[in-house]
Amino acid sequence: MLPEACREPLLGMYYLATLPGRRQAAARRAIEGSAPIRTLFYHRVADDHPNGWTISTERFKDQIEWIQERYEIITLIEAQRRIGSDQNSTAAVCLTFDDGYADNCREALPWLLDKQIPFTYFVSTNRVNTGEPFDHDVEAGQPLAPNSIEEIRVLAEAGVEIGAHTRSHADCGKIDNEDELYDEIVGSKRDLEAMIHRPVRYFAFPFGLEENLSRAAFRTAFRAGFWGVCSAYGGYNLPGEDPFHIQRIHGDSSWARFCNWLTVDPRKLRNVQRFNAGDYRLCF
Ligand SMILES: [Zn+2]
Repeated sequence: MLPEACREPLLGMYYLATLPGRRQAAARRAIEGSAPIRTLFYHRVADDHPNGWTISTERFKDQIEWIQERYEIITLIEAQRRIGSDQNSTAAVCLTFDDGYADNCREALPWLLDKQIPFTYFVSTNRVNTGEPFDHDVEAGQPLAPNSIEEIRVLAEAGVEIGAHTRSHADCGKIDNEDELYDEIVGSKRDLEAMIHRPVRYFAFPFGLEENLSRAAFRTAFRAGFWGVCSAYGGYNLPGEDPFHIQRIHGDSSWARFCNWLTVDPRKLRNVQRFNAGDYRLCF
C-alpha cells in the first residue's frame, strides 16, 4: 500500500486522465435515464480538533458550492423516488450527516439552512439524551460534545429530516440477538419521535461498512416502519435498484477523493457490490 502522501497525487492524475471519459459517460447516462444518485455522508464540520471524521468549515462550504454548480441537491425522499422510478436523467446529490456533533450547529448547519439546501441528520439518541461524548472520541482523546436535545428540536422545527443512528452507536453487524437489535434500531426511532414530535423515517447504520450491516437489521428497520436505511461503504444508487437501501459515499476532505467519487469513478461503479439485504422493492 502506498503512503497517503503518494496516493493523493496519483488519484488526482487518475481523475484528470479519466475525466473526459467520465463526462461522456455522464452524458450517455442522462440520455438513457440511468444517472446515479450520489448520497454523501459527513460527520463533523469544525476548525478545531481535526481528525478523520472532521472537515474544515471552509473545505465543507467549498465542496457544497462545487456540488451546487454541477448537480441538483435533493432530499432523501426525492432520491428514493428517483431510484425507485427506473429513470433518472438529472445528476443529483443527497447530503447527510452522521452521529450528531454540537459543533455542526456553530456554522455548517445554519449556513445550509440559510441557503435552503436540504440534508438529513442522523443521531445516536443516547448521546443526545445524556450529553456524553462518543466512545470513539473518548478513545481518541477528544471528548467532543454531541448535539443537545434542544439543538435537534430546533433543526427539526427548521424542516431538517432527523434520522436514527441507533441508541448507543451500535455495530448492528455484531448483534445477533433480535431483542438487542430491536432496542437499538426501533428504540432510537422512538426516542427521537418523542424528542421532536415528528415521524422518524430514515435509519443510518453506525460505521456503515458491509460487516456492520445485517439482513436481520434491515428486516427490523423495515418492520419498524422506516422508509429507508443508509449504509456507508461507498457505492452509487442507480435507477431501478432497491430504494429502501441508500448507499452512501464519504464527504472526504481530500479534493481528489471527493471529485473522484462524485464524478462517478468507473472502477467503483463496477466493483462496489450492493449488500445482499433482501429486496424491498415490491414494498414501494
Ligand atoms: Zn456514526
